[in-house]
Amino acid sequence: IEESVAEDMQRFEDSFVGINKRFRLINRIGEGTFSTVYKAEDLEYNRYNNNWDIDEKEDSKWSSPATKRRNSRHRPKYVAIKKIYVTSSPIRIFNELDLLRDLRNSENVCPLITAFRHNDQVIAVLPYCQHRDFREYFRDMKVPEMRIYFRNLFTALRSVHRAGILHRDIKPTNFLYNPEHARGMLVDFGLAEREGTDWHQCACTLSSEDRRYKIQHSVYAAHLNAGNQPSSYPKNDNRSSRRANRAGTRGFRAPEVLLKCTQQTTSIDMWSAGVILLTLLSRRFPFFHSADDIDALLEITSIFGRKKMRETSLLHGQVFETNIPSYSDQGHSLEKIILWATSRSGKDENGEKQQLLPEEKEAVEFLYRLMECDPAKRITADEALRHPFIARAGD
Ligand code: ADP
Ligand code: MG
Repeated sequence: IEESVAEDMQRFEDSFVGINKRFRLINRIGEGTFSTVYKAEDLEYNRYNNNWDIDEKEDSKWSSPATKRRNSRHRPKYVAIKKIYVTSSPIRIFNELDLLRDLRNSENVCPLITAFRHNDQVIAVLPYCQHRDFREYFRDMKVPEMRIYFRNLFTALRSVHRAGILHRDIKPTNFLYNPEHARGMLVDFGLAEREGTDWHQCACTLSSEDRRYKIQHSVYAAHLNAGNQPSSYPKNDNRSSRRANRAGTRGFRAPEVLLKCTQQTTSIDMWSAGVILLTLLSRRFPFFHSADDIDALLEITSIFGRKKMRETSLLHGQVFETNIPSYSDQGHSLEKIILWATSRSGKDENGEKQQLLPEEKEAVEFLYRLMECDPAKRITADEALRHPFIARAGD
């Protein structure tokens, strides 16, 4: 262990009084935007797992003796201790723990074992999930393994979405995958929220007729109708600025998140899963590397074309215009993008145009269902699990 990590662990043990009575810190395994995560050994493991006479006072007074025994039997020896930064608001911390409690019996979702607070410091204790860093395996993953990876991820998302929860931050570092065991666990509900939180009407829920009316009367449209160039920005823009939850990670945000849709649904997570699949098929990580939301929209435009982005923007009552000539109207097929990314856009030794393997083509067909720009048409987790690409995993 590096000296600085050892020092950090020492500081944590010193500041969180009593933690070393229950846990022995082993290493620091994660440092995110919102927390630091440590691997630790649960020192009560032996007592709980080998001794059926559990100290009654230690267990929840609400659980039945049978439940207590069941709980204790599953107590893992190694845990991940998530130390949530004290700068996080108490509401945010509560939200994460509350959602995890709702999801405690969900397959492929890393369950919360317990949580502690000492002064302003909160720690969440989760079973330690053995996994490998995405960067180590994303270049080598074959299509049959991708099927299994995504079956695990969609199994998690099916439960999360059934519970009416948006994860909001689906990306490789939040899905701990173990290629050897072909098993993945979804973690990090720090940005998750219940569907419907802060909703106010977005044009995407209007009929297409009402939507057209609304857009025709927008300030920007009036500006264009007055003969102004699309590239000039309206000077007297008195629209109220639009506020929508944009939490998540650059490059994984769905178009409707970037377009500030005010009625975002669980389907935003399916888009992010699509970005992971595109990453695996193209063997490029990160696939998108935009600096901001506008950049991210342009990256999506470079694939799907200007026409599609105009339609998608209008869906949410936004007008999308770009005067950058390099974006084509129709965009490019995902097949072509993947061939480019994997250096197969030229001819093969027989002078034939190179093609994707049949199994890659099948993956791309499925990818189109995930990277569908209209959230209402995008495949759901439940449907994805029944899609031939996933349903045949492990065959
Ligand atoms: P943050 O909100 O800071 O991103 P995460 O919950 O995503 O926090 O955890 C950060 C990192 O810690 C993860 O990317 C992963 O590497 C590691 N980690 C989190 N939970 C576990 C776990 N249960 N088992 C093993 N490693 C974990
Ligand atoms: Mg994370």
